[in-house]
Amino acid sequence: MNRGCPLCWRRREDGSEYCTYHLAAQKNLLNAFRDWQEALELEWRDFLVVVVARQESGEWVKDVAHHLLEKEKKGG
Ligand SMILES: [Zn+2]
Repeated sequence: MNRGCPLCWRRREDGSEYCTYHLAAQKNLLNAFRDWQEALELEWRDFLVVVVARQESGEWVKDVAHHLLEKEKKGG
């Protein structure tokens, strides 16, 4: 059974599927999405595509955005 972060070798934080770094990145992502949504009414999936494509996005954030995007695709 793998209890690690799906994106790196670190241990998961309690109550999260991510480690402390990727969890922080996920929170940043959600905050950014809230800001963007107010201005642009962007869909979550489209927002993730933009984050992954943007050069300015941090590596941690890109990791998480990419991971979430893959899950969106699988979920249909
Ligand atoms: Zn991680």
